[in-house]
Amino acid sequence: MKVLVSDPLSEEGLEILKKEEDIEVEVATKLAPEELKAKIKDADALIVRSGTKVTRDLIQAGNRLRVIGRAGVGVDNVDVEAATEKGVIVMNSPGANTISTAEHTVALLLSLSRNIPQAYLSLKQKKWERKKFMGVEVYGKVLGIIGLGRIGGEVAKRAQVLGMEVIAYDPFLSPERAKRLDVKLLGLKELLGQADYITVHTPLTDETEHLIGPKEFKLMKDGMKIINCARGGIVDEKALYEAMKSGKVAGGALDVYEEEPPFDSPLMELDNLVLTPHIGASTEEAQRKVAIEIAHQVVDALKGRTLRNAVNVSSIEPEIYEEIKPYLSLAEKLGCLEAQLLKGRIVRVGIKYSGEVIEYDLAPITLAILKGLLESVLGETVNYVNARLIAREREIEVIETKSERLEDFANLISLEVETPQARGSVSGTLFGRSDARIVRLNGYHLDAVPVGYMLVCAHEDKPGIIGRIGTILGAQGINIAAMTLGRKEKGGREVTVLNLDSSVPKSTLKDIENIKEIFEVRLARL
Ligand code: NAD
Repeated sequence: MKVLVSDPLSEEGLEILKKEEDIEVEVATKLAPEELKAKIKDADALIVRSGTKVTRDLIQAGNRLRVIGRAGVGVDNVDVEAATEKGVIVMNSPGANTISTAEHTVALLLSLSRNIPQAYLSLKQKKWERKKFMGVEVYGKVLGIIGLGRIGGEVAKRAQVLGMEVIAYDPFLSPERAKRLDVKLLGLKELLGQADYITVHTPLTDETEHLIGPKEFKLMKDGMKIINCARGGIVDEKALYEAMKSGKVAGGALDVYEEEPPFDSPLMELDNLVLTPHIGASTEEAQRKVAIEIAHQVVDALKGRTLRNAVNVSSIEPEIYEEIKPYLSLAEKLGCLEAQLLKGRIVRVGIKYSGEVIEYDLAPITLAILKGLLESVLGETVNYVNARLIAREREIEVIETKSERLEDFANLISLEVETPQARGSVSGTLFGRSDARIVRLNGYHLDAVPVGYMLVCAHEDKPGIIGRIGTILGAQGINIAAMTLGRKEKGGREVTVLNLDSSVPKSTLKDIENIKEIFEVRLARL
């Protein structure tokens, strides 16, 4: 078997591959697309980092290709759909850079408290400014962690050793994990009001983009300090600039930016902001770990052993995949939609399959639902292989039932999702072979196409309301592509679902929410 490595990979990773007697390793980096296409013809596996563009064309050329391994997290340089269609497994190696990123966060925390980068620069200019660089201790201070996942959890442990009191905001986390980490879970507002330092460790999603904006800065303690070592845009850079200029925020540290590199950003002019060029995961150990992890995973996959961190479902035979593909897509969308509509920590998921769909293996379809549900919270680290494991770790109870009885549709997948505060349900069907529709939402009968931006409004069933929603959207240049309505009785509560051609700014959502007859507005992106 041949493994082609087309981006630089740590020697330790290559050694793992070379140790296998039946595996031939070819390292060929910086190839032009045509050269790579020629080399991939007889390769059984391809290992890349972020440099190689693994296009549909390249995947098609891999006559024997079975596995694509990405040493690292993001698979945006791989055409996963084309790989899946061809039955090629795509895998990544998340988690290998957790410690490095947590350590970098701590390095920023201390640099920021003791002005280390600024003091270094001053000394290099042959100045001896001991008074100017008066610092503060972190000991005894309150650290607020937003997103207590892998990296957030490791930051918490290290901050506790430094004598900090750690509080966190993570609405999707089980209280048990917070308890195990000895971290107090709070609401966002409470955290903002109590923390001396805030560090964000969430993925960048529609929900977390500008999670820390002007309103949030206002709620913070005067003179607090903030760190973003997760993804650019979780902290609103414009609001951060204002908060630092006004003195509300005494110091900050960023490793990631809304636009990278941030050369044109006004943030560059602030002296009390420590900046590093997205190097959170840039350590020899992290690079070694991703290489070792991906090499083991690729060997295991080639030898038919356990599949780890596969981001697609190619463990299914290509012919079967072709058949269930529309159901997988529908299932993932149902999960994704419900997670965005309900919000909060999911504690229970009830899945009911009825009609024709029960003739298929339902396990991958359930995984697709879980992936959809978890992905909007955890981002791209959720995949078809770890979705069930993550659900278990997060103590989400999953109950599946199937019924041969037809419920108005030839096939129906229904989800009922519970959080400690609320419960929501959504059902979808396929018309024909692949025409997906949402047909029920919280008991309301609808006919909505699950695609793009979906605005879901619950309101009184009165004339004129939909017109007003349309006017508000129209004023912002947001086009309505499709609309569906459902109500249980005349004059009662009604649900309107709009498919939109573009996203809706938060302020516009607020304007819609302010219409007196509207109970609730949610925007989902599928
Ligand atoms: P993770 O999935 O283990 O943890 C993310 C946590 O965020 C989860 O516990 C989730 O429940 C929580 N979360 C999601 N939405 C939230 C919200 N709206 N409010 C509060 N909490 C929310 O991820 P991880 O591996 O710890 O990675 C965290 C971040 O670090 C990601 O953005 C990742 O891309 C980034 N990262 C950066 C670097 C770097 O070079 N600077 C390196 C690796 C990872």
